[in-house]
Order: sequence, then structure tokens, then C-alpha cells
Amino acid sequence: MGLVVQKYGGTSVKDAERVMNVAKRITDTYKAGNDVVVAVSAQGDTTDDLIAKGMEINPNASKREMDMLLATGEQISISLLAMAIEKIGCPVVSLTGWQAGFKTDTHYGAARIKRIDTERLRSELDKRKIVIVAGFQGLNKYDDITTLGRGGSDTSAVALAAALHADVCEIYTDVDGVYTTDPRICKTAYKLDDISYDEMLELASLGANVLHNRSVEMAKKYRVKLSVRSSLNNNEGTYVKEVDQVEKMVVRGVTRDNDVARIALCGVENTPGKAFAIFRILAKYGICVDLIIQSIGNNDKKDISFTVKEDDLEKTLALLEENASIIKCNEVKWTKDVSKVSIVGAGMVNNSGVAATMFEALYDAHININMIATSEIKISVLVDRKDAERAVVAIHDKFLLD
Ligand code: ADP
Ligand code: ASP
Ligand code: MG
Repeated sequence: MGLVVQKYGGTSVKDAERVMNVAKRITDTYKAGNDVVVAVSAQGDTTDDLIAKGMEINPNASKREMDMLLATGEQISISLLAMAIEKIGCPVVSLTGWQAGFKTDTHYGAARIKRIDTERLRSELDKRKIVIVAGFQGLNKYDDITTLGRGGSDTSAVALAAALHADVCEIYTDVDGVYTTDPRICKTAYKLDDISYDEMLELASLGANVLHNRSVEMAKKYRVKLSVRSSLNNNEGTYVKEVDQVEKMVVRGVTRDNDVARIALCGVENTPGKAFAIFRILAKYGICVDLIIQSIGNNDKKDISFTVKEDDLEKTLALLEENASIIKCNEVKWTKDVSKVSIVGAGMVNNSGVAATMFEALYDAHININMIATSEIKISVLVDRKDAERAVVAIHDKFLLD
């Protein structure tokens, strides 16, 4: 018996039947003698639908108004779930992010949680109520509603667990754990019993959307005991924890990220300070540059290619245009038809030949590599988007099948 924080994602509450299923799981945990706090996401595709609604009215709507709109999705879920729990006959209260005390910074659309004022939560728990909290949302210093970025309800749950010193934080979703790669892409993917915070953080940051990357960052920082499991069965899930108890495997997972665009600056002058000039401009405007390649061009010129997030593409192109007189290149080319495919594993650092094996898998599958980046714990390649799923399967089966 203790304090349990649970999180249910959109597919777990997508219709009345699923809401009742979740209510039953929550009340079973409660009836076993635990205090229960639940973070919940918007039902099914609600958030996508709300974004489409907003875009239909004004594609350039302010992020503040977009957050006002998106936060409504989670409010529907908390009330429905609380009603379902009332029907089962357990004491319950639903709270929006601001009622639950979530204070964030002012970054609309991707706000960070600064703290949770827990008085209200504590007082409801003291009354032995099940507390249902809207995920993905908070309030900033202007008393405006903010959202935490797509997939952010995971982070709401971990933040609740950290602030309330919960015994466990259980993330319930539509798969029964963290797999070696996305099971929707690769039929041979299999579930991991456990994974280290660092590896999970890389996987999440590189496109494994089963957990929001900030939730993992926070779980690591506050030592939250985190598990990922299914809301549809009782299978043992995956435990995300410190590295020493984790089984040793060179490569733990493969990811694909479609949220990338590649920009190539062709015919840049081959003189010192050019890369500095270009990337300083982008940094000044908060554009995160990911993979970078500089290659030798013709006639004392060079080509510089790099990737940014798809959302940042337009802003990046505009900045390059505005600063054309400083950058001075012959041509700017760009494409969205690329994906980043990565392998992650803490054991890679002591193993030579991992990159070669990855490239061999791609060669065998006749897939061309556009860019490469490596670090101690990951290797990423940029491939054409049409090849990405095949690349995931080829790399997965090379490293992760016996
Ligand atoms: P929720 O709505 O519960 O938050 P998400 O759709 O955000 O669910 O995350 C679950 C999905 O993440 C799975 O259905 C799966 O397709 C995808 N996924 C991507 N990579 C992985 C992975 N390595 N392990 C498990 N699931 C993954
Ligand atoms: N509803 C939000 C989204 O779709 C938050 C979440 O599901 O975690 O991104
Ligand atoms: Mg999610």
C-alpha cells in the first residue's frame, strides 16, 4: 500500500468502453488500499482534431490561443473518467492542470513544468479521494494556460509522482512496454524487461514516442520508479531504472524520426568562420540544428548540409534568406522527404564495429545514407523517407535478433 501515480494515454480512454475499463483498473488499485493519482490524456485523436480545427480558422493562430484550445481535450477525459469512477462507487475528484497546481514557464506549445503546488492534491488525498488530473497542461506566470508539447501527459504523470513522492509511476498505453523498436513498424520487435534512464531518454528523444522525452529526464532527476505497461492486459511491463541492474546488450533499440527536414547550402565560400556565421544566426533565433555535414565542393567552395525539425524549416529558410549577404552561397536546397533512423545502447561505447554493422545492414537492404552522426550511446543516419521503415527493420534484425 502506498501512493500510486498512473497515466492513461489517448487510446486507453478513446471511447466509453475504454473509459470504463480504465476506471475499473483505477478503482481496483484504490480498493487494494493505495492512494491513487491519475494523469490522463485527451481521448483518441482529439488533440489532432483540435489542431485541425484551429488551423482551419487561422493557420497562423498564436500559440497562446492554440494552447487554450488544446487544453480542452484533456478536460473532457478527466470529467468522463471521474463520472465512470463515480458509477463504480468510489470517491473521486477531477482537476484541471491549474487546479492541480501545475506551474509552467511561458513557452506556449512546449512549456516546461517549473513546480507543482501540491496543497489541493494533498487535501483531496487526505479525504481518501481518487484524484484525476488533466495531463499536458499547466498555468504560466501570466495565469495563461500552457501545454507541454505533444505526448506531454507522460511528463505530467512523472511530475506528479516526483512532487508527491509516489511509490511508483505507471504509464499505461496501447503496447505492453518498451520494445526494441516500434512494434507497428517491425513485426520482430520484442519487449524489453528493463531499460536504463539514459537509454530510454535517447530512444524517446530520437523518435520512440512511447514515452515523452521530458518525462524520462524528470524520472531520472527525481529517481521516480517508472514502468510502461498496457491498459488492455495484465502483462508485466518494462521498468525504466538506473543502469547497473539493466541487462547488458550492445544495441537496445532502433528508432525512426520523421520530424526532420534537410537544408543544403551549396557553394559556400571556403574561408574560416563561415560555419560559425551560419549557425550563430540559427542559434540566435532558437533553431536546433541536428545532423551537420560539410563537404568539399568545386572551385574553392564547399557545401554545408544540416537538419532541423520540420516545424522550424520555414523559419530557418527565412533566416537564411534574410542573411543571404552574410552567408553568400550559390543555392539553398531543402527537402522534407527524409527520416532519421538511430540505434541506441549504452554498451556501444566499448564496442568497435557497431557503426560498420549498421551500415552493412543498410547496404544489404540497398538503402542510401545521406548523413551520419555518432555519439557514445547512439548512431543516427539520415535516409530517404520512403526507405525509413525498411531501414528500421533491416537494422533491427541485424542487431536484435539472435
Ligand atoms: P499514448 O496515447 O498511450 O500516450 P502513444 O501513441 O503516445 O500512446 O505511444 C504508444 C505508441 O508508441 C505505440 O503504439 C507504438 O506504436 C509507439 N512506439 C514507438 N516506439 C516504440 C517502442 N520502442 N516501444 C513501444 N512502442 C513504441
Ligand atoms: N493529448 C496530448 C497529445 O496528443 C498529450 C498526450 O497525449 O500526452 O499530444
Ligand atoms: Mg504518448
